[in-house]
Amino acid sequence: MNALTLAVPAGSDCAPAVRGAVLRERGQREVFCGLTGIIWLHRKVQDAFFLVVGSRTCAHLLQSAAGVMVFAEPRFGTAIIEERDLAGMVDCNAELDRVVDRLLARRPDIKLLFLVGSCPSEVIKLDLSRAAQRLSVKHSGATRVLNYSGSGIETTFTEGEDACLAALVPELAATAPGDALELMIVGALPDVVEDQFLRLFAQLGIARVHSFPARRAGAMPPAGPNTRFLLAQPFLGETARALEDRGAVRLDALFPFGAEGTSAWLHAAAVAFGIDEMHFRTVIAPGRERAKRAIAHAREQLGGKSIFFLPDSQLELPLARFLAQELGMVPLEVGTPYLHRAHMARELALLPAETVISEGQDVDRQLDRVRAARPDLTVCGLGLANPLEAEGLTTKWAIELVFSPIHGFDQAGDLADLFARPLRRRDVLKV
Ligand code: SF4
Repeated sequence: MNALTLAVPAGSDCAPAVRGAVLRERGQREVFCGLTGIIWLHRKVQDAFFLVVGSRTCAHLLQSAAGVMVFAEPRFGTAIIEERDLAGMVDCNAELDRVVDRLLARRPDIKLLFLVGSCPSEVIKLDLSRAAQRLSVKHSGATRVLNYSGSGIETTFTEGEDACLAALVPELAATAPGDALELMIVGALPDVVEDQFLRLFAQLGIARVHSFPARRAGAMPPAGPNTRFLLAQPFLGETARALEDRGAVRLDALFPFGAEGTSAWLHAAAVAFGIDEMHFRTVIAPGRERAKRAIAHAREQLGGKSIFFLPDSQLELPLARFLAQELGMVPLEVGTPYLHRAHMARELALLPAETVISEGQDVDRQLDRVRAARPDLTVCGLGLANPLEAEGLTTKWAIELVFSPIHGFDQAGDLADLFARPLRRRDVLKV
């Protein structure tokens, strides 16, 4: 038990080292838009509905991204706005109201409705925030109506979740002054992973723990100065800011990937809630050992191998840290759509000094760097994977990392395996 050592002091009293220059690129990018977040968010909040106000393209994206999932009562849909001039916009608002009225009359189980904006100019002309206010008043008591943008002009991939949760924050009830400290886990996690974390916090002795988002609209946690929150996902900058505006305090920690990241993440909460250090170590030891054992088999395959992350989900930096720190991989370049320096400080401090950190994208220039470096593994979006494979490079689809359960001790082995598998496949094909 005493052999348990955290790789970084995870308490809030220890500031991470500051890292130097970041390569910033602003050019053509190859990333999904924020509508994609609906695919995992609609599974999480079970009485919410996501109504995309968009074009046929948006409807097709959602349809194909949702893949084979068929629900008797789906939890998302698209109100398709056809091209029209400004004079027709009044009708557009009336039509949207009619669509919402019809939906809510047919589906009284919907307690939280999100109007999700997209990029077509007709949608941009519509004031969805006013529409949400109008419809909220009309359906008050039964359904809350909120809005956010998933537009490809304003958001990339995982930013849709950030925009959705940030829209929810002002709706959260206030905590009462003088209430005991409460812990909030922020970010949509698969239920099974969330339950594992809740069990660990209960064993640690942290009694009041909430998940945001909750699984039901009526169970969203309160927020206030006695809220201490841990980001479970690294792409929630706006949500964190909105919570801080409510007085909540972010607990600075590594993100919960791998044995070390998960230990440090839990430790940040343990320190904030005054949990005895020996008790903390005793509680996390079994999970931490399980995680270490589970990733050991992949270390042989991945140790010393080079990896190049193209910017996609904003998970890149914590995952590169996990791969370097726990599996001995060599991150050559780690690209991220946006770099939140404060949230990422601890992750950056643990990456090798030689790793290039890039923010934003100029896809052609970045692909030139991939070709020059010829990494053992390239993590990228679907559209880039096939051409790179055709050039003899081994790739990993970034989207799989978002759709798979990868957080926490018990998923560490699967997370390592997601990176080991393409290399195994390559080795098999070579023989
Ligand atoms: S929101 Fe924009 S980028 Fe996303 S599917 Fe619709 S049109 Fe395409």
